[in-house]
Amino acid sequence: MSIKGVDITVLGGGIAGLSAATALAQRGAVVTVLEQATALGEVGAGLQIGPNGVAVLEALGLRDAAAAVANVPEAVELRDMATGREVARLPMGQAAVRRWGRPYWQFHRADLLAVLADGARVAGVDIRLGHKVDTVKDISASVIIAADGVRSAVRAEVFNGQPASFTGQVAWRGTIPMENLPVGAVKNVATVYMGPGRHLVTYPMRGGSVVNFVAVEERDAWADEGWNIPDTPENLRRAFASGGRDVQTILNAVEETFLWGLFNHPYLPHWTKDNIALIGDACHPMLPYLAQGAVMALEDAWVLARELDRAGVADGLLAYERIRKPRATRVQKAAASNATAYHLSSGPARLVAHTGLKAISRLAPSALLGRFDWLYGEDVTKPDV
Ligand SMILES: Cc1cc2nc3c(=O)[nH]c(=O)nc-3n(C[C@H](O)[C@H](O)[C@H](O)COP(=O)(O)OP(=O)(O)OC[C@H]3O[C@@H](n4cnc5c(N)ncnc54)[C@H](O)[C@@H]3O)c2cc1C
Repeated sequence: MSIKGVDITVLGGGIAGLSAATALAQRGAVVTVLEQATALGEVGAGLQIGPNGVAVLEALGLRDAAAAVANVPEAVELRDMATGREVARLPMGQAAVRRWGRPYWQFHRADLLAVLADGARVAGVDIRLGHKVDTVKDISASVIIAADGVRSAVRAEVFNGQPASFTGQVAWRGTIPMENLPVGAVKNVATVYMGPGRHLVTYPMRGGSVVNFVAVEERDAWADEGWNIPDTPENLRRAFASGGRDVQTILNAVEETFLWGLFNHPYLPHWTKDNIALIGDACHPMLPYLAQGAVMALEDAWVLARELDRAGVADGLLAYERIRKPRATRVQKAAASNATAYHLSSGPARLVAHTGLKAISRLAPSALLGRFDWLYGEDVTKPDV
């Protein structure tokens, strides 16, 4: 079996769509990507790509191009939001390479998309920007890959996707030029400031010239789900007024921010139907607390292309779903449970959890890293996975 010469249309030019298009074209498929936006990656935001995602970038032949625009953090630090004190520290950098075989990377989303788009074009993919698809009935390709994101129209049209429910959590995201911050305010680590009902994640990107932030708050007021919904920095600062000096210093430098409502999407019974497959956020949207949504999209892309090539269209689509569903579902669940861990209210539960983490972090850092072996240690590009 082979997908050489098979015409495939990919709907959506995000991480899922571009990586799938590249993987398919590299195996000889004739691939077109239809993307509604007129430019790729317009929104300034960061993406952390764990070693399991780096494995896919490497297998796509994009390791060097991606490394050139990646930031390599020294660690992930969990800190108390009010005091700024360290609760736990996971060494990354070389420690990640030693443990999981590959580094932990951080990107500006536009940079990673540019690397993937270049890779796709080199593989022969036809990327058509400014091309919105209203119904899959308009597409005549042999295979249709719907990589149209968290608000996937194909999920609703073909897979009977049920409405999502607001989680009661919103995320502000944005970037800050490092030069607008006091020296040393943001180190070369991913920092999670944890407070009751809220947390703030910061990390540097683009050679340390820009800081990415994601600030999550539990609240009743609803917000929409999407990349382009602006909010005022004052609202963000008000929500985090209980944060300590470090948090205030960072948020005072915010000049522009976007608000993203976080939604629970019912698990889909199926990801494939006839000649159509969903990938990425279109089939398994997840809360951002494990930084794995885009990484799962990369894993999907690799497995989908490999299985179509190995088993042909009909069996390949079924094999893709069978292989990917259990892992993506596990990651969705793990991401959701991190919200509880980060947002514990003051009181005994918080004290016990933070003290326990601190002890493990100091006494047995490898035990803490070991909790992520199932996630970061997986390499879907190995022949037997
Ligand atoms: C606050 C926050 C922080 C996050 N941080 C991380 C992180 O650190 N690491 C990580 O791995 N993940 C992270 N994620 C998740 C990650 O952003 C998503 O999982 C990832 O972007 C999904 O990629 P995708 O290609 O499936 O969807 P998208 O990136 O949404 O791409 C979908 C594409 O389809 C296009 N499209 C949609 N409809 C149509 C149509 N009808 N016709 C044509 N084109 C269409 C859209 O314009 C878009 O370009 C985070 C998410 C959030 C909300």
